[in-house]
Amino acid sequence: MTMNREGRPTRPETAGAVTGTTWTGNRALMLDEPLLFEIGDTQTTGVDFDPAGPGRESRLGGLERRRPIGLAGLSEPETVRHYTRLSRQNYAIDLGLFPLGSCTMKHNPRLCEKVARLPGFADLHPLQPVDTVQGALAVISDLGAWLVRLTGMHSVAMSPKAGAHGELCGLLAIRSALEARGDMREVILVPESAHGTNPATAAFAGYRVENIPANAAGRVDLDALKSRLGPDVAGVMITNPNTCGLFEPDMIAISAAVHAAGGLVYCDGANFNAIVGRVRPGDLGIDAMHINLHKTFSTPHGGGGPGAGPVVFSEALTPFAPLPFVERIQADEGERYVLVEEENADEHHSRSFGRMTAFHGQMGMFTRALAYILSHGADGLRQVAEDAVLNANYVLRSLEDVLEAPFGASGPCMHEALFSDKGFAEGLTTLDVAKGLIDEGYHPMTMYFPLVVHGAMLVEPTETESKAALDQFIGALRNVAERAKAGDPSLKAAPIHAPRRRLDETLAARKPVLVYREPDPAQAAE
Ligand SMILES: *Cc1c(COP(=O)(O)O)cnc(C)c1O
Repeated sequence: MTMNREGRPTRPETAGAVTGTTWTGNRALMLDEPLLFEIGDTQTTGVDFDPAGPGRESRLGGLERRRPIGLAGLSEPETVRHYTRLSRQNYAIDLGLFPLGSCTMKHNPRLCEKVARLPGFADLHPLQPVDTVQGALAVISDLGAWLVRLTGMHSVAMSPKAGAHGELCGLLAIRSALEARGDMREVILVPESAHGTNPATAAFAGYRVENIPANAAGRVDLDALKSRLGPDVAGVMITNPNTCGLFEPDMIAISAAVHAAGGLVYCDGANFNAIVGRVRPGDLGIDAMHINLHKTFSTPHGGGGPGAGPVVFSEALTPFAPLPFVERIQADEGERYVLVEEENADEHHSRSFGRMTAFHGQMGMFTRALAYILSHGADGLRQVAEDAVLNANYVLRSLEDVLEAPFGASGPCMHEALFSDKGFAEGLTTLDVAKGLIDEGYHPMTMYFPLVVHGAMLVEPTETESKAALDQFIGALRNVAERAKAGDPSLKAAPIHAPRRRLDETLAARKPVLVYREPDPAQAAE
């Protein structure tokens, strides 16, 4: 391999108009990007430090590095260019439709971004005196009031920082409530179609997890659930709408049966965007439910953050909810907001199980969510749910002649459309379809989840896509699916147009190369 002016690898032997390759390896303005170690040098540094040495006292108190750590050094512009080039090979909701099911990747209005960046919100410090953050507390309080109203529940804990964190919060409250009546139940029941975070959370909270099967229609098997209930069952975790994209119509009966057996009902409300303004979980007998603000109420997410998972509680669970709470009080000088914390908790919160976080939660997400809610209004939020469901059903019905829809016959879906790999030619799989979609310029849908469907493909278009955008995506997926059914062997090689070809994902996950090794001189000579 040789290097060009910027020290980046080149392939001059093969470059030329005829071969279709270039001297730099770049394609037009798409720049090929080597690894940091291939462009940088472990002997180079981007910053100047005074050299250490005799007469120069170190102020690091013995913490200074003793040997090189082997990281490649680059100048600031080289570093910025490296990461900017990589970012151009990335896919984002601002580039195109992002059909990931169970993730709700929707466009987030720029208005919400603008509000979140107002310095009065963005520059706050969590340790500022309460008197100086009355506006921020008002935002938390108003947003909480909206969430309580929209869900028909009794109270809300705003501090959990993700959906999974909210699940933990809900289960800790359930555990405290049961322990308060001297009831040490050990089992949490989780449907087999549950989101992976549900059993993980229950196990993390110290419970034993048992599965309840799904029925042929993709819903919780009510009879199987009822027959398992008993004095050892602390509660159930039900995702509604569930991960097959279906509403659980037996929710009231499920809650009644669990309560009759002395347990409590946790609802995974991550998919609230499908029912907001249409269904109030409080009417379904639910005791605790988290809401993913980053799925239903704006905030771009993906790649691990940011998130916010406020938890709404029934009246029975409210005394056990975590601190702090924001409360609006009437003082002599007018309305004020106070923080109810450990030292000033009254009888309503005196049995709180403790804290989820050091402070109050994700302020930037609260401002985005409240801006989103106020700009849509109650009627607009209802339309969000209706349009999300309409778009998913449009995808489902437009593709069910080419892709098998395992629950297509049981009526409309909610916010996501589920397909299986039934009918694909021998040797072609859901993974091949996903890779084929990359060549068509789309991030793949969620695949092999939920586990109850063979070779599952879960597509969530969200409400923010137009009919034209949906038609384009449907056309692309139809084309790839037809190739899978016809047994087109070239699909096995996809993606062929992406910056990288098909990777060995197992090897990449099991043996990631995260440390630089000096090149083997024998190999370098080749
Ligand atoms: C996204 C999601 C979660 C987890 O939420 P995080 O914010 O990623 O922790 C849990 N359950 C369901 C159904 C989800 O879609």
